[in-house]
Formats: sequence, structure tokens, C-alpha cells
Amino acid sequence: MTDDPFPSSAPTAFDHATGEAYDEAESRRIIGMVAATVAQLADWPKEEAFSVPYPPLAQRVLDRIALIGVLRHPGGFHLTPYREHLSCPRTLADLMALCWSSPIDAWPFLSLPDGEDLTGLLVELDPIRPSKLCLRLALKFAHPDAHDRSLERLALLEARSLYEESGYPGGFPELREWLIAHPVLSSQEIAFLKLERIGGVQVTDELINILYLRVHERYFSLTDEIAVCGHCGLVLVPVRGGSGEGWQCETTQCRSRRNVLVGAVRHVAENLHHAARPIREFVIAGPRLRASEDSSRQAPSPLRDVEC
Ligand SMILES: [Zn+2]
Repeated sequence: MTDDPFPSSAPTAFDHATGEAYDEAESRRIIGMVAATVAQLADWPKEEAFSVPYPPLAQRVLDRIALIGVLRHPGGFHLTPYREHLSCPRTLADLMALCWSSPIDAWPFLSLPDGEDLTGLLVELDPIRPSKLCLRLALKFAHPDAHDRSLERLALLEARSLYEESGYPGGFPELREWLIAHPVLSSQEIAFLKLERIGGVQVTDELINILYLRVHERYFSLTDEIAVCGHCGLVLVPVRGGSGEGWQCETTQCRSRRNVLVGAVRHVAENLHHAARPIREFVIAGPRLRASEDSSRQAPSPLRDVEC
């Protein structure tokens, strides 16, 4: 009897990395990691480098996709018109290109479950931003034990916990209403706010950091202005074209996506903060847009006034 030249052994890290094709559960986990990375990148502070080695989540998801994808798809697949035979995204730039050029249900190295709302792009353009699908998947990835909760609840989970820990769970709805009314705050407004209580809970740096983040310079105009949308009340993105500078709203369902309505214009020197992206998309935008619709329906038509 001869010795087996290839004896079986306990799996190594290499075996784990090159194992069976992704099943549905692993595909779902990986798409959650990609979505969370995209969301993280979209709000990355300008003063912090985002370079190799990437922050842990971004690096982990790249490793999972690039290494396994390369080994499982050695023949390559068509990714974008400008790179004809890219076998799999191997860099963060490749991964981002895949996010805006190909719907996730067409990613060949994933086996996402059918019949669920897992179709579409993770990154949308004009202006470039994480899609609503991306924000939903990122939230669900961040809260794997709370899949049954609504997106609004998931977006405010940390703030709600803080209210419960403080002994004021009943004060939470007041915070929600307050947030909807105040999507953008200056540093001075925040300083005054920290002298107050909302729903019985003292406003602290911890609560502010859960709810708000500093407005990134991508929202600054060339003249250092920051404009707020006249419909949803969220910060607009400046766009530069042949006819000068204009504004775009990045809220998915906002009427300003078709025809922008510029509201208040503020200055960079105010050191503005705005609600964190999932909060503004899933908590603030809806009620504000409904209120905007109602008020425009009730507003007297100038033409009708003339006719009367
Ligand atoms: Zn808007």
C-alpha cells in the first residue's frame, strides 16, 4: 500500500478563501459589505486619508471579492465598456465602477436570492451618491439582528437605544420630530442645542455624533455657499457646467431632482452639519416632501388670483 501523495488535511486559510462558490447567505453578506463600504466612502472626512491599506471593512470586502473572484472566474467577464476583460474588481476603483455600471443582480460572482428586492445599482449618478438600495443594504448589514425592523427604525436605532438607556424611551418621538424640523445645523446652533433637552434627554456630543455629520466640501459652491433644497430641506450638491454653477438634490424622491428649487443659502463659515445619510433619506426626506406637496397644493395659484 502506497501513501496517498495528496492526503486530506484540515482546511487552511487558502482553502477557506478559495472554497465553494458563494451561496446565497454569503452573497448577501458580501453585498452588505460592499454597500456599507460605499456608504462609508460617500461621507469619508476630507482630512482623513482613504488609501491602501484601506479601512478594515473596505479591505475585507475587496479581499473577498478580488481573490475569490479571480480564482473562480479565470476567464474573466465583461465589466465596463472601457475595460474589456477585467476578470473581477481587484481595486477599490474597479469595485466602484462595478457599483455604478452594473446592477447587483448581474454580478457574476454572487448568487443573490431571487424574488427579493435585490436589484439595481449601488451608486447613482447626477450627482454621484449611494443609491437608496445601497443605504438599505448598508443599514441591514450594520444591524444583522434587526432585519424585521423598518428602515426608519434601523436608521435611528442607536439614538433610540440612547433614549432607552437614559430612562426616557417616551421622549424618542419628540427627537424624531425635532430631527425632521432641523436637518441642517450650524456649529453655533449645535452649541446652543447642547444646553437643551429633547424629549427629556440632555443633548450631548454623543447624541449629536449619532445624528449629524459635518457637511463635506463636495457640497460647497465655488463661492463658499451651501444651498438647501426648497422641497426636502436637505443640502444641495453644486454642479458646474457650461452655463456656470447650478445645484442638484441628491434625495431620491425629491421633486428637485427634476427641477431644482433652491431654498436657504448659507455660508461655509457657519461650519454646517447635516443629518447622517440614512437618517436624512429614510427619516427626514419623506415627511418633509409630503409637507412640501401639501403646502404647494394649498398655495393660491397666481393665475387663479388674477382671474378672480
Ligand atoms: Zn430635495
